[in-house]
Amino acid sequence: MTSSEPTSIVVCGAAGRMGRLLVGLGREDAGLRVAGAVEASGHPRIGEDAGVVAGGAPLGVPLVADLSAICKAADVVIDFTGVPAATLTHTRVAVDRGAGLVVGTTGFTAAEEAEMRALAARTRSVIAANFSVGVTALIELVSQAARLLDASFESEIVEIHHHAKKDAPSGTALALGRAIAAARHQDFATAAVLAREGQVGARRPDEIGIVALRAGDAVGDHTVVFGGLGERIELVHRAQSRECLVRGALRAAAWVGRRPAGVYAMRDVLGI
Ligand code: NAD
Repeated sequence: MTSSEPTSIVVCGAAGRMGRLLVGLGREDAGLRVAGAVEASGHPRIGEDAGVVAGGAPLGVPLVADLSAICKAADVVIDFTGVPAATLTHTRVAVDRGAGLVVGTTGFTAAEEAEMRALAARTRSVIAANFSVGVTALIELVSQAARLLDASFESEIVEIHHHAKKDAPSGTALALGRAIAAARHQDFATAAVLAREGQVGARRPDEIGIVALRAGDAVGDHTVVFGGLGERIELVHRAQSRECLVRGALRAAAWVGRRPAGVYAMRDVLGI
């Protein structure tokens, strides 16, 4: 790839909510070329044109079930399958073929995520639980607030997503929790409280509580509360459509196509 050529992308999960938008907006981006589209084996739309599945004109790119068959066409593989085992497979294929990688899938166990990150480090990769510019800035703002406010300001996170979301709490809520823990030199696994029910007793001052709501078609709102005595700070991000997430992932794909191997975050892409 020379610097004037568009970055070729292969979208994994191409018939999904995010995948269809990645194909639809990716094809309109002069810096990108949609070179392939992958869906789960047995998906009813396998063989159909990805452009049509995305709701537009044909692209000449059929949905296929095996990334390894088409990966050589890709500068960057983008995975939004939402299935950690599939993401691991796609990561392995991208590494073997020397393609870059953008991972948006969330819901990994700690062991799966560690394995995926170790593999992804062997190529150029961007991994983010949320590709929006606003959430990337929110994570930085939350770190700063956690450092500015002393530990008497207790932290809680509330998120709401659409009723079809499979994992809870959201990867973004966990990333926000980890940012608070890191800023306060806490171990996130010990501090995180993901459910409260019954006689749970008084709140430990070092808890980072996370609550997940699921309703309707909410794209994803996150509120971080720092509650002190007599006052409270709330930092809120609301995704009004998936477009901000998709545009961020496409921006990451164009950016990472020209980087040395390593795992990058969205703040690296934005230079913040
Ligand atoms: P979705 O269920 O609408 O789409 C996922 C698609 O992947 C489906 O069409 C499914 O058939 C396909 N798929 C499953 N297994 C596959 C395989 N082995 N190979 C190829 N395709 C396969 O889900 P969605 O709402 O588009 O979300 C997908 C994932 O992205 C979720 O984990 C979600 O949490 C995450 N997400 C991340 C961000 C972010 O900014 N990082 C934003 C939105 C969603």
